[in-house]
Amino acid sequence: MSDERTELALELRRHLAWQESDGTRVLLKEPGAQKGPAAQKGPAVQKEPAPVHPEPVPSAAEGRSRGTKVEAPSVLVPGETLDEVRRELGDCKRCKLCEGRKQIVFGSGNPRAELVFVGEGPGEEEDKQGIPFVGAAGQLLTKMIEAMKFSRDTVYICNVVKCRPPGNRNPEPDEIRACEPFLRAQLRVIKPKVIVALGKFAAQTLLREDTPITRLRGQWRQYEGIDLMPTFHPAYLLRSPDEKKKAWMDLQEVMKRLGKSA
Ligand code: SF4
Repeated sequence: MSDERTELALELRRHLAWQESDGTRVLLKEPGAQKGPAAQKGPAVQKEPAPVHPEPVPSAAEGRSRGTKVEAPSVLVPGETLDEVRRELGDCKRCKLCEGRKQIVFGSGNPRAELVFVGEGPGEEEDKQGIPFVGAAGQLLTKMIEAMKFSRDTVYICNVVKCRPPGNRNPEPDEIRACEPFLRAQLRVIKPKVIVALGKFAAQTLLREDTPITRLRGQWRQYEGIDLMPTFHPAYLLRSPDEKKKAWMDLQEVMKRLGKSA
């Protein structure tokens, strides 16, 4: 098996293991899998569905998630380039966010970026323009990127969910579950040196844990062998300008790791 196929197989297994740990119903039939009773010990697993996203969500939102039929997530998104991953996404209707969007906001920037910023989801302006982080929070992110001696063209910017949640509400667990394989595929293709996870949804989704962003931020972590720095989301910084100092400290760590003097 080639290195790439091995990597894809490992990613698929990690994803399935995560889904199983959440209690998600998972059905996988491997080529050459045993038939009969012994096969029950193999990778075919059935569990009762359970809430998936680590974040506590309001009961009304939980109710909507559980009551909504969601197409099974694409656990392994093929593609060796961002264009191929985008083609695979297509006119996506894998979750209910497709209903209110104007367009899919896939991502923008350098497909070979050494630095990738991952946010939560598109807002109103992003939904209109089809480009991530172009509203007020996006303007702040652009300033942050430039303060780090990069430009938007040299980095890559994307979100956990590619369609705007109505009214800019938080993405719900089923939506994250449906869209997240495409984020993983983007990161697999780009292979950046550093990922900056902007806010709790990006950090918790990539790290598969529910530690609050206030504790995650500023601490180097690893995502699939890539250095990951969690920090505050620019939208939060607009609401809480006193926290900008902490975010800047986090970004200075990223600069150091990428050989830029602060
Ligand atoms: S948020 Fe993601 S999974 Fe849901 S419809 Fe949009 S592109 Fe598809």
